[in-house]
Amino acid sequence: MDLRPDPIDADDFRVFPRHLDGKARSRHHAEYAGWHRDACWNGRRFERFPEYIVRAQSIADVGHSIDFARRHGLSVSVRGRGHSYAGCFLRDNGLLLDLSALDRIDVDPAARMAAVQPGVSARQLAQALAPHGLAFPTGHGGDVGLSGFLLGGGLGINFRAWGGMSAFNLRALDLIGADGELLHADAEHHPQLFWAARGGGPGLGFVAVKFYLDCQPLPACITGSSAHTGLDRLGALLQAVERADPPPALQVMIAVVPHGDGLQAALSTLAFADTAQQAQALHAALFSRLPAGLVEPLARDQPSSFEAIYRQSEAMLVSRRYRCDNVLTDRGAEAARILAAHLPLRPSPASVPLLIWRGEPRLPDAAFSARGRWFVSTYAQWDAERDDEANRRWLKALYDELAGVASGAYINEFDLEERSAQVERCFAPANWARLRELRRRCDPDGVFHDVRIGRR
Ligand SMILES: Cc1cc2nc3c(=O)[nH]c(=O)nc-3n(C[C@H](O)[C@H](O)[C@H](O)COP(=O)(O)OP(=O)(O)OC[C@H]3O[C@@H](n4cnc5c(N)ncnc54)[C@H](O)[C@@H]3O)c2cc1C
Repeated sequence: MDLRPDPIDADDFRVFPRHLDGKARSRHHAEYAGWHRDACWNGRRFERFPEYIVRAQSIADVGHSIDFARRHGLSVSVRGRGHSYAGCFLRDNGLLLDLSALDRIDVDPAARMAAVQPGVSARQLAQALAPHGLAFPTGHGGDVGLSGFLLGGGLGINFRAWGGMSAFNLRALDLIGADGELLHADAEHHPQLFWAARGGGPGLGFVAVKFYLDCQPLPACITGSSAHTGLDRLGALLQAVERADPPPALQVMIAVVPHGDGLQAALSTLAFADTAQQAQALHAALFSRLPAGLVEPLARDQPSSFEAIYRQSEAMLVSRRYRCDNVLTDRGAEAARILAAHLPLRPSPASVPLLIWRGEPRLPDAAFSARGRWFVSTYAQWDAERDDEANRRWLKALYDELAGVASGAYINEFDLEERSAQVERCFAPANWARLRELRRRCDPDGVFHDVRIGRR
């Protein structure tokens, strides 16, 4: 039997879109360039060109596209809402399956559950849940896609009180594998695929078409406090936060931002509570334990909300072009010293490091397995193409050095363009081996692109 894929001729491609509810464009189509450009949230142009882009309008479109790709030897890459900083769904010579139009949300308030399609954003989900008094630990940017976010683990709003990582709130998912079959996976059915979907990251070897999410009661009182200190005291601040051991319902974040001619560490905390009194107590649990004079308070117990958090996070990302990298580390003070040495050299003053206190979440048996009490991510951002290379080099040098104090990295903000060869850093060794083996078994013919950019 000849197993070689069929070559595509113009007729094949003319017929294929007729089976779709959505649309498809080949590289030769006049609209392709616009579709390629619009696929990425990041304003940088990625020189990786799929042969076809399909904008799916139905789950059947996903099956047809996988079938077409398999028959013709095209590797499939998948786009949720295109927020990957590395544009990792853009790959050469394959078929890009864009799921962003699949954005249905069904809420079952009695079961405290939401069934969500992959094109749904953080803000859309929060808005659908709030009228039912429910919430979900979405990403902090309102437009961030839930599907890429969840499949990579998801460091969401109020994540410490709500499961550690958002993916641990996944009850089940529907997915379509390399053979085009639609499966329902949960702890009992296809448990290996369910295991992989909880934090396995991009390139899993299947397309998730629906997520069944366990939701949380919407906290009646969300408040924020803020304070700042000099960059030279960042290490001391991190150690003080560690000693204070903040309660899970207090989210603690420190951004390094410009201040006058220099830089400062801006501490912000978010409390998720039922009453104003409880929220005050959460903030006080941290602020009352910081050494006197370490930070200068700016605001205390200010009303906040999911929408306010989305806007605050969006206000941090002000440029058109981005690169992002991160480490997870237990050595906060050393990471602070490395940041302080590299930040004055940054080519763009808009670039911001963000440090988030994770504590030590208890990890269930799931693909997500990266450890480290501090999440240290840097959003290099600038506007002009001519500055691409300087920013790339600066971020690489910073994270080459931070890797020396890292205990892991978070796949969704890992620089897959620069570090695809090191992607196993994002997983415990046994989990990485299990993910690779699972992928080999589920997708033996490589119907889907690999997580590593540059590898099929
Ligand atoms: C402004 C901004 C704010 C962010 N905030 C946070 C945050 O607070 N917390 C956090 O953890 N992360 C955050 N991120 C990172 C975010 O989690 C990732 O960028 C994530 O990939 C976004 O999801 P997406 O659906 O847009 O992914 P896409 O960019 O569309 O896809 C990325 C990859 O995910 C895989 N994928 C996506 N959907 C599917 C699917 N349905 N089936 C199979 N594979 C799929 C594909 O391999 C794809 O290549 C943020 C990113 C941005 C740009």
